[in-house]
Amino acid sequence: MFQQTINLKKVKKLSVISIFIVFILSSCASQPPQVIKEVIRDTVIINKITERYESARIAKLDKYKMSTTHYPAKGQDERVRFLIFHYTALDNETSIRVLTQQEVSSHYLVPNDYSDSIYVLVDETKRSWHAGASYWKNINNINFSSIGIEIVNLGYTTTTPVSGNPDMATASRVFYDYPKHQMDKVAELARDIIDRYQIEPVNVLAHSDIAPQRKHDPGPKFPWKRLYDEYNIGAWYEEVHKNMYLSKFPYLEKDSTTFILSVQQDLEKYGYEVPKTGIWDERTQKVITAFQYHFRPENYDGIIDAETWAILKALILRYRS
Ligand SMILES: [Zn+2]
Repeated sequence: MFQQTINLKKVKKLSVISIFIVFILSSCASQPPQVIKEVIRDTVIINKITERYESARIAKLDKYKMSTTHYPAKGQDERVRFLIFHYTALDNETSIRVLTQQEVSSHYLVPNDYSDSIYVLVDETKRSWHAGASYWKNINNINFSSIGIEIVNLGYTTTTPVSGNPDMATASRVFYDYPKHQMDKVAELARDIIDRYQIEPVNVLAHSDIAPQRKHDPGPKFPWKRLYDEYNIGAWYEEVHKNMYLSKFPYLEKDSTTFILSVQQDLEKYGYEVPKTGIWDERTQKVITAFQYHFRPENYDGIIDAETWAILKALILRYRS
């Protein structure tokens, strides 16, 4: 049976028309850095399913058969399934140095200077090392399946000395604001990534969501609601659902094993890694704090109250039921 084989020359011509390469990475430290202006992708094809241009990284295309009948196969999806936001807790200059010269990195870095543009640090097809030990909805090691965006922000300061009591540390944390001009840049970049990889709203997350025992970034000042309202980025609850659940909060049973277990199960159902102990232990409180950073940032004390519970229920109703 006749198969239409993609004409390699035509494909090459397309790639020449589309995108080119200039990358001269100087090995001489004394020369000033050069800005990469143009990039050649491996091969540019039109995906017959999505009808969009995409690059294809394929071994020995001159020897193997790549036909429009069989390429691309239907059974596939993106490796990138998550978008993760971070703050660097460092200034601009130190952030760039650490993220390019140490064992941590991110795909993008958004500085806080008004005039400075976003830095590209790692190719999207490669893993950047931003998430560490992490978990969301049965998936571990989120570096394998995510794009990481680091945002220059100093994180938090503590107003009172930390005496080793974790509750006291939480109470004394004061986080830094994100300037609007910086968030506009973050939003534009995030929207582009979400569109290209079709990332689900529930998979657009904070580092603290996927590592709540270790991380606080990007913290409660990160404007999740504004990103949702103005750019349709990430997940958010319906106010009407929240209000419906507010009146159902079981005040009298809120410290019962049954209720605590149900909250732990709900947090897990939404995506968090949480122990099912039936008690308000420290690990569970840290998960609740991470949840509050994201969805109820006015108070992030790690204690389930009527509003936190109602928001969790409203999110599950919208996205996980
Ligand atoms: Zn982080």
